[in-house]
This record gives sequence, structure tokens and C-alpha cells, in this order.
Amino acid sequence: MSFIEQHIDNQLIVLPELDGFEISLYMKREDQIHAFISGNKYRKLKYNILKAKKENHNTLLTFGGAFSNHISAVAFVGKEFGFNTIGIIRGDELKKDLKSVFQQNSTLKMAHKNGMQFEFVSRSDYRLKNTSEFINKLKKKYDNFYLIPEGGTNDLAIKGCEEILKPKDEIFDIICVAIGTGGTISGIINSIHAHQKVIGFPALKGDFLTKEIKKYTKQNKNWSLINDYHFGGFAKVDKKLVNFINNFKREVNIPLDSIYTGKMMYGLIDMIKKEGFKKGIKILAIHTGGLQGISGMNERLKHKKLPIIQ
Ligand SMILES: *Cc1c(COP(=O)(O)O)cnc(C)c1O
Repeated sequence: MSFIEQHIDNQLIVLPELDGFEISLYMKREDQIHAFISGNKYRKLKYNILKAKKENHNTLLTFGGAFSNHISAVAFVGKEFGFNTIGIIRGDELKKDLKSVFQQNSTLKMAHKNGMQFEFVSRSDYRLKNTSEFINKLKKKYDNFYLIPEGGTNDLAIKGCEEILKPKDEIFDIICVAIGTGGTISGIINSIHAHQKVIGFPALKGDFLTKEIKKYTKQNKNWSLINDYHFGGFAKVDKKLVNFINNFKREVNIPLDSIYTGKMMYGLIDMIKKEGFKKGIKILAIHTGGLQGISGMNERLKHKKLPIIQ
């Protein structure tokens, strides 16, 4: 895949509230790879797309929730690289009134615009998505497709995420990253140097993550998960988090999403303020993207009469 990666840089984060802590904090702007194929979703798709092309597939099929960054990325990748795309979407209530769904949900609207065909399935059916029975049914219905798992995580995705860190990032002591399925952190763990440590911030309550990460990584030292900043679970958001995201953007001019990168940065800055790091330490936080999800999240926040993401 040919996207411009040269302009992805590490941006210094200077926040008044971190004055005096004597740490240096940078953010790797993977969100700038593409507006809709952003951050880790680009990394995770790259080698899968190359393989699908090599095997002469013309259709990509994948799974996701209605606001999924992965669904958004697959739809755009399909358009850019000439694949039909099929999205198996969680929630069969959505198919009743697609027009109003598109009005409120820019993820699905844009995916549709980019040619993605949807199949909406009930939450209980969606849970069966990895069974051979479910997949065989899809194969009968849609014929020959290249299957990409939910969230895009498979061996080739990990290989793509091993390219996030660059040789010049060797100067950092700590790498921080948000976690959903654990694919991205696995690639990062596989690519660090012996003196570096990775800290993962799960975006959900997930005891399964440690096992999942062990499955994809070659070493079991030098990484840890901080489970204190999921804000109650996946896509759960409160006023404190939204205010943090808006303040962060005002101070350093970097937009964060509320599902992954907002929670990670909230957690990291809280840990710094609680003196969780040695003086002089150099920290690199990965901006994994996900900004396409902000407008859908804002619809939900308005509904709940909470402040919105600016
Ligand atoms: C999907 C996603 C993640 C989680 O990545 P995993 O590889 O599933 O752990 C993190 N940040 C953003 C912005 C994402 O879209």
C-alpha cells in the first residue's frame, strides 16, 4: 500500500500541568496517515491487502460495531485498492431505518459511500462470528472473499504494527499505546529494543488481553498493562474524559478520540502527575488514530446531554 508515511513524526507535548516533573513526552502522529485509514488500522491492513491482491481476491469481508474505526478503514482501503467490501455489522435493529442511521452515524455513512455492502446481524449472532458454521454460511452467500477478523488482528496485522517504531525511536525509554484487541501492542512489543518498555492502556475491561498478547509476541518481559483507565468499559465516556480531550487539544493542538487515545493520554498524564516515572525518562505515546469516530460519539454525547468533543 502506498500512503505517505514520511510526514509521520513525533511531536513534543508541553503541558503546563507537567511542569517540574522532568520527563519528556512525545506523541507519534500516526493519526496523520489518512483521515479514514488512520493509525494502527492502516498498519494492520497493509500486509493483508498485499496478500489479498497476490491471491487475486476481489472482495474483502470483515466484522465490526457501528462506529468501528476498522470498518471505516476497510471501506476506504477497498475503494483505494479496488476491492469490493462487505461489512458484517453488530446490531440488526440498524437495518430497519438505514436512512436515519446514516444521518446519525458518519462511520456507516462514509463506509456506504465508499461502496461497502452491509449485513446487519443480531448481537447474539454476532457473537458466533468466529465459528466455522457462521463463516461457512457467509461463504455460501458471498462466494470467494478475503476474510479480515474483527479489529483487523491477525499475524499479518502484527507484522504491520512492527513497523510503527522507527530506528530513531530507540532514544525512548517507554512506549505507550491504547489497546482494543491487543494486536497493535503485540507488534510494538516485537519491535522494541532491550532497554525499552511498553505500557498498554486497555480501552475495555478485558482479562483476556494478557493471554491474547502472549499469543502474538516473542518475549514476555518489558511490557505491562494498566487497567485503571477504561472509564467503565469499551466506548464508555464521562464528562471528565471529554473535558480532558478538549483541554489537550487546546493546549497542544492534537485531537484525541474518546475510545482509545483519549483514555490512554488521560491515564499517562495521571500517572506522571502521581510521580509514576523516574526523572529524566523519555516517553513516546502512539497516536493510533481513530478520529473518524468523534462525530458519531458526539451524537451519543448530545443525546446524553454531556459536553461534546470540540
Ligand atoms: C482499533 C484501535 C486501537 C486498538 O488496537 P488493537 O490492535 O485492537 O489493540 C487503538 N486505537 C485506535 C484509535 C483504534 O482505532
